[in-house]
Amino acid sequence: MNKIKTKLIKRPNELYAEFLIEGVEPHIINMFRRAVLAYVPTLAIHEVIIRRNTSVLWDEDLALRLALIPLKVDKSEIDLLGKCGKLILSLEKAVECSARLRLRKRGEPNRIITVYAKDIEPVDKKTVRPVYPDIPIVKLGPKQEIDIEMIAKVGLGRDHAKFQAVCTVGYKPLPILRVRENCNGCGKCVEACPKKVLELKNGKPVVKEDKKLECDLDRLCVMHCPEQALEIIPDETKYLFRIESVGQLSLEEIFTAAVNSMNQLMDYFIEALTEAFQQIKS
Ligand code: SF4
Repeated sequence: MNKIKTKLIKRPNELYAEFLIEGVEPHIINMFRRAVLAYVPTLAIHEVIIRRNTSVLWDEDLALRLALIPLKVDKSEIDLLGKCGKLILSLEKAVECSARLRLRKRGEPNRIITVYAKDIEPVDKKTVRPVYPDIPIVKLGPKQEIDIEMIAKVGLGRDHAKFQAVCTVGYKPLPILRVRENCNGCGKCVEACPKKVLELKNGKPVVKEDKKLECDLDRLCVMHCPEQALEIIPDETKYLFRIESVGQLSLEEIFTAAVNSMNQLMDYFIEALTEAFQQIKS
């Protein structure tokens, strides 16, 4: 395998990053993407006990909205990436890796109020809080009321999307442009590219060095070539990787947890293979 090189391209804020990865094969980069999606533990509301709900929303709708509110917690109370983040949670850990919450709100006379994520109160683990306090949950009119108990637990994205730590994770390959002999340098491909990725050099189209990350391989340039002289294909060793955290964990924490889970999964796999091999031998 070639030496893998990475280069940070964009880090506009704490939650988002784009970087270039070179020398990696597609199945490896996809394994990392899937580990980020499926094996990074987070805390989310998992059980909802509706004591009272006279709002306009059905109980089920309320429960769905609550489950999708991203939650944060201090490591001292729930060690998400440590003991709570193991792939298979034991029963004893289920209690120390969960938190009870309560949401009680009553409508006010003569006006409609909005219940926000910040109105959720922690019961046992006091540092549990929503990442974005201003997420609206429901509106309450006069005499309307909600009283809800919730249990948040640590889970993995493989079990439910509400546990995913990222809202964006993906990659795209960089383009390789091939120009055949019959290209007459008409420039139709340059005009057709909506991202202005191509230019003519010595009468032939080439990918501009500073624009190659913008090519989305839609092949409009190829389709507009009257001579059918162009081919644009993905470079399967160079990728632009994009990732954005929902906000519960930093990007560094997400990367570390994903890599650790890949190691752990490989260990399980090798153990299972060794066992199978031993059985064949005996
Ligand atoms: S594939 Fe699309 S974005 Fe890329 S160079 Fe061709 S027209 Fe432009």
